[in-house]
Amino acid sequence: MNVPARLPNDTRLDKLAEVAVKVGLGGVAGQQLVMTAPLEAAPLVRRITEHAYKAGATLVTTLYADDEATLARYAYGPDASFDTAPAWLYAGMAEAYKAGAARLAISGADPSLLAGQDPDKVGRANRANSAAYMPAMQPIVNFEINWTIVSYATPAWAKAMFPGETEEKAVEKLWDAIFAASRIDAADPVAAWQQHNANLHARKDWLNAKRFSAVRFAGPGTDLTVGLADDHEWCGGSTSTRNAMTCNANIPTEEVFTTPHKDRVEGHVRSTKPLSYMGTLIEDIAVRFEGGRIVEATASRGEDVLRKVLETDEGAARLGEVALVPHSSPISASGLLFYNTLYDENASSHIALGQAYSKCFVGGGVGLSPEDLAARGANKSLIHIDWMIGSDAIDADGVNADGTSEPIMRKGEWV
Ligand code: ZN
Ligand code: ZN
Repeated sequence: MNVPARLPNDTRLDKLAEVAVKVGLGGVAGQQLVMTAPLEAAPLVRRITEHAYKAGATLVTTLYADDEATLARYAYGPDASFDTAPAWLYAGMAEAYKAGAARLAISGADPSLLAGQDPDKVGRANRANSAAYMPAMQPIVNFEINWTIVSYATPAWAKAMFPGETEEKAVEKLWDAIFAASRIDAADPVAAWQQHNANLHARKDWLNAKRFSAVRFAGPGTDLTVGLADDHEWCGGSTSTRNAMTCNANIPTEEVFTTPHKDRVEGHVRSTKPLSYMGTLIEDIAVRFEGGRIVEATASRGEDVLRKVLETDEGAARLGEVALVPHSSPISASGLLFYNTLYDENASSHIALGQAYSKCFVGGGVGLSPEDLAARGANKSLIHIDWMIGSDAIDADGVNADGTSEPIMRKGEWV
């Protein structure tokens, strides 16, 4: 393990841990906490664990992932390894959530860890993992529990972002970017998050009052009409959960998002930033939709993995999310490309392939069965992959049921 010595004394790391527990999870009193993290993130895991116990958590259990162990699987694992996933582990996580546990993930993986590996093996391993993970993903996408994702500046991630810097300098620069985007630099980060949530709630309330039937994105290489699900509701900022908590699922977050109609997406769209998916970079994605389904897809890099992703299941080539993010968001303004969806999706308007969030329906989707959700146009899939389609050259319009429209964003900014 390689942890820069200065970090344990950096008070910002402790503030990030506090924000993760108080804002991200919205508290954890009386709950167990299930945490996952890269091995390198142990200093943050320990601080989060302290804050969780101080906030009344009954038990904190952390599962560490190790990039070197992952590579050992590709180097030495038998062929059958790539159709194998720890279903027993995910069943256990699902059981914990059912019993009321909260969930915290620390992201910071090497964005191109698997770049040199056989795309077929990567695709098979992802598919096996997605299928096994389903029971543990459902309570999260349905916001049955309070959950959050924060990040840690691992050396591999930092070097991917700042290849020209020494490892130490790259890690320092990434930490500065993480702390700024996560509002840790504010005098009172928890209060800064309350203000930020109020701003996002105002945007979402405006869109919900409009009841648009579609959002149309237009700009270079893009003319895409995303029909919205019947009874859709825009979400953004902190959200209430079915276990009666209020969580901020992503730290940072800048998006206001809702559920598209799985059969009503038409036109073509280009990605505006590279997508880092399970250790593979997919760049310059260009797709065309017909009747909600992707019928043509290309990418200048990672096209093999993109195709495998689209073949995952019937819902993998349809949309489960559409999100609006202004081009002037702090993450976008940093000018950095993070190669990490948690950050890059908050720098740009985006769409997600795959599973829809049942939360984004009138009344928070409570009481809607899977059949009810499908009838309203919510997509279902083993995957949920966000990719970026916004930039300072993209306009977004709200389309009304009668075909008239009005501007939502011009040149990437809220009108
Ligand atoms: Zn999103
Ligand atoms: Zn998403």
